Amino acid sequence: LRENDSVVENQITVCVRKRPLNEKEERRKEVDVMTVNTKNQLIVHEPKQKVDLTKYLENQHFRFDYVFDEGCNNDIVYKFTAKPLVRTIFEGGMATCFAYGQTGSGKTHTMGGEFRGKQQNFKNGIYGLVAIDVFKFLRTPKYAQKNFMVSASFFEIYGKLVFDLLAKKQRLRVLEDGKQQVQVVGLTEKVVCKVDDVIDLIQRGSLERTSGQTSANSNSSRSHAVFQIILRKVGSKHVEGKFSLIDLAGNERGADNNKSNRQTRIEGADINKSLLALKECIRALGRRGAHLPFRGSKLTQVLRDSFIGEKSRTCMIALISPGNYSVDHSLNTLRYADRVKEL
Ligand code: ADP
Ligand code: MG
Repeated sequence: LRENDSVVENQITVCVRKRPLNEKEERRKEVDVMTVNTKNQLIVHEPKQKVDLTKYLENQHFRFDYVFDEGCNNDIVYKFTAKPLVRTIFEGGMATCFAYGQTGSGKTHTMGGEFRGKQQNFKNGIYGLVAIDVFKFLRTPKYAQKNFMVSASFFEIYGKLVFDLLAKKQRLRVLEDGKQQVQVVGLTEKVVCKVDDVIDLIQRGSLERTSGQTSANSNSSRSHAVFQIILRKVGSKHVEGKFSLIDLAGNERGADNNKSNRQTRIEGADINKSLLALKECIRALGRRGAHLPFRGSKLTQVLRDSFIGEKSRTCMIALISPGNYSVDHSLNTLRYADRVKEL
């Protein structure tokens, strides 16, 4: 990938990122079944068995705007996904970036920052990298004179409930007025004057999100996290532009209908519903006059603004685990990503 490979003119960009095999997968002697062939082609070698029990691999080819292999770090992924969208919010549009994939595939690593053990480097995730570029833009002559003011909010959607990650997970209500304007009532929005202010909020919200959870029963895998950077003119309430960055719930939660526990089943159904509504809303962005089914879930309802307007841009990063044990979930992820793109 070269710098000038990055030309995002499409309203919708769909990319795939493959992470390396982790220790657990190595210990289980899993094999890497994903080959990144070119900068936009991925081949999945799906292990199969014939009736006579002979084993073979079936190759499936997928094409996306970009495919990142395990050698790509967050900086590179950022450069080709969210970075080209920063300009959008300075030009009166909405920008959105989603991380989609099964639990453990690398969504939080990509959006929040790379992990060193349990520590996360919040400066090299997509959230932080967007913040850094927003402040760079603000200081260029073209935009410095426009009196922009930046603020940020961070919340979590769990089923039909919304929690403020910048206010000790206070529960918030979502209201829609007669003009279909959606508002998250009482959501904390902090004014930020420099990059470090934003990093601080990202850190606080991320720790709030994972506080009190055990790895065996992780809440974060069952909820969507939404981090937003908002631009206004000083003294005005009008939103000039907004960048929404979303770490989605694990998509495997919606895939399995045979869950023993009732609560888990309801959660799975909610997640499934929201991911289906999301796909339809993103697709509507690429098709003039298409019906926007934003009421299909809390997630699409709160993001309604982002799915309208010719200036709005969306990017989806689909994350995949490379191991053969995960191949079914990975194929689900790839097929979903494929349909988001297809017009
Ligand atoms: P998710 O949020 O999708 O459940 P995480 O982002 O928490 O997954 O990633 C699971 C683990 O895999 C973490 O320990 C993370 O550091 C590691 N990981 C994810 N993506 C990568 C990557 N591209 N390179 C190295 N390690 C990764
Ligand atoms: Mg996560």
